Amino acid sequence: MSTNTGDLSSVKVSFQQKKDYFNSDQSVKISNRFDGARVDDLKVINDSTFAIVVKAENTPVNPSPWYAFQITSKKERNLYFQLEYENVKHRYLPKYSRDLKTWLSVDTVYTNEQKSVASFSMKVDKGTTTVSAQELMTSKDNQKWVKDIARLPNVEQFVIGHSLMGKPLYALRNTNATSKKIVFVISRQHPPEVTGYLAMQAFVERVLGSSAAAKNFQQNFELVVVPMMNPDGVDNGHWRHSVGGVDLNRDWKGFVQPETKAIRDYVATRTEQGNKVLFFLDFHSTWYDVFYVNKENPGSLIPGFVTKWLQGMEEGRDGYKARIEPSGNEGVVSKAWFSREHQAEAVTYEVGDLTPRNYISTIGILAADQMIKLLLEK
Ligand SMILES: [Zn+2]
Repeated sequence: MSTNTGDLSSVKVSFQQKKDYFNSDQSVKISNRFDGARVDDLKVINDSTFAIVVKAENTPVNPSPWYAFQITSKKERNLYFQLEYENVKHRYLPKYSRDLKTWLSVDTVYTNEQKSVASFSMKVDKGTTTVSAQELMTSKDNQKWVKDIARLPNVEQFVIGHSLMGKPLYALRNTNATSKKIVFVISRQHPPEVTGYLAMQAFVERVLGSSAAAKNFQQNFELVVVPMMNPDGVDNGHWRHSVGGVDLNRDWKGFVQPETKAIRDYVATRTEQGNKVLFFLDFHSTWYDVFYVNKENPGSLIPGFVTKWLQGMEEGRDGYKARIEPSGNEGVVSKAWFSREHQAEAVTYEVGDLTPRNYISTIGILAADQMIKLLLEK
């Protein structure tokens, strides 16, 4: 079923073959038949050892080699895996889960000199275990989270547009703001960037939550959130791109993809109605925690806000130091477009791949509290 209006002839990615692979006595099955999976080929080396070939959706592409597969074993046993990448270095420490809620990391990974092959062993129980580059958080998981948040008082969910494959781009907003001032949040333009998504969730839950400050914020500002910009890429196990074969965070000038167009058009409509986006946050992941800010933001609606916000975060938590990397706002990324076209203060909020998950939440909440405090002072 599709409500898509995009042009599927523009699809330039190769889809993995969805398949079950078995060892010789059929006691172990490895499958990629689920959303978020990535296995392009599998070689059975012996009954307990498997080489998993992982490829990108198309090239050139950033080195974020995503993989995910499910193991079904007839008994508890030790299994050995080697991940084989094409001309790319191993990046993500394997995680595994029995229930898709609690994830543990594999203890030790061995790589070859080029880091193009990564080997690890794990003990699996009888039944199914999922192995994934990061915690598996698919478009269905996102839909469920959006639905949960929309149960909060004065919060509604809506569909802001559709992906190239016709998946809804879910959004959230609070409906009780008495002003026309908007804070706009997006995440997951890049499918593997789960740590950024986790920070976004902590941030949004805090801002739309029930603390006195949050309630005050909600009456005075509107938060609009698009938590998963690239559901096609996420569900197809992409390393980086949309199903259009495009890095969505390089499409904020050309707007050739429906996902970015949806945001451009929504913001245009709201702006025509007299609303203004004051602050924009785009959550991502990289090698370490860092805030990419605009070097200059002439005409900013709230000049100096980002600088004060990051200072506030440092003052709000002993020992916290925000790493800040400025760049110009003439580029093709989301933070440049919101700054240039809408005079918003805008930041790319990057979270490290390995940042501890409870720390991600702590800093996400700190970021929310300091934003609320500063905006309410205005
Ligand atoms: Zn990114």
